[in-house]
Amino acid sequence: MSSDVKIHPAVDNGIKPAAPNFAGGRLTCHCAQNKVEVEIGAQTAHNHVCGCTRCWKPAGALFSQVAVVSRDKVKVVANEDKLYIVDPSATIQRHACKECGVHMFGRIENKQHPFYGLDFIHTELSSEEGWAAPEFAAFVSSIIEAGANPNNMAAVRARLKELGLEPYDALSPALMDAISTHVAKAAGKLAA
Ligand SMILES: [Zn+2]
Ligand SMILES: [Zn+2]
Repeated sequence: MSSDVKIHPAVDNGIKPAAPNFAGGRLTCHCAQNKVEVEIGAQTAHNHVCGCTRCWKPAGALFSQVAVVSRDKVKVVANEDKLYIVDPSATIQRHACKECGVHMFGRIENKQHPFYGLDFIHTELSSEEGWAAPEFAAFVSSIIEAGANPNNMAAVRARLKELGLEPYDALSPALMDAISTHVAKAAGKLAA
């Protein structure tokens, strides 16, 4: 099931299913030595491929692969001094390795944000198998902002569908509904 359209190395040759009772693993950056290591103490949720220009992507990939996990399950265990925040003004503060540029985790510090409490991680940085499989494709049209050919979008969306990754130009409907529900409760339009 290969294709000329390369989405991301974790999905291009078919998607691996999650392992039952999988309980996490260790993410390492791409440095040859003194790797930043982050221990993840749980299975992830909402794994997806993302076309936005802010998520870290491996070289040559059109999309990133990104999932969430509770921030209390994310612990830097080696070479924390190599981490810096890519853009401190961004909603998601992406903690990246200064040397290799890999994003180790993204964290939301605004307690009012619908996704506060969840960190964003790239499980491909772990050698363990059994992480939650990607479920959809977010911000597909945004790959054009990173230089993808607009005339190739039909092929990209067709390939995503073939892989079972429904393409959306925002987040998935379930996540967009979760955000709107949070906003409506904060505004008193829905019972909290
Ligand atoms: Zn590194
Ligand atoms: Zn993204």
